[in-house]
Amino acid sequence: MPDKTEKARRKQIQRELQEKAQIEFEQSLPISRELFQNLFDFLDEELEGNACNDSLKMTKQFLGFQNIQNKEEVENWLKENGGFCDCEVLYNIEELFEE
Ligand SMILES: [Zn+2]
Repeated sequence: MPDKTEKARRKQIQRELQEKAQIEFEQSLPISRELFQNLFDFLDEELEGNACNDSLKMTKQFLGFQNIQNKEEVENWLKENGGFCDCEVLYNIEELFEE
């Protein structure tokens, strides 16, 4: 059995790793967190009335409305993180932002 100091030390290491992963995640974001939140809200509403057509059509629309310059970078980032179409962005990407 690990003693108390050992347990505390492991907890500390785990906390540091989590913080590090969080920072790396934040740094990898191609657009701000707020914009992502707006994107999720937009997709949420759009997907209520329209079926996902297995593309990033609505996501691209949103990026267009917001005048995002690095659209390609955003798309690549979404795909790298499991968002290959609008509904996947909502289901796979949104949860990455939950704390
Ligand atoms: Zn989809």
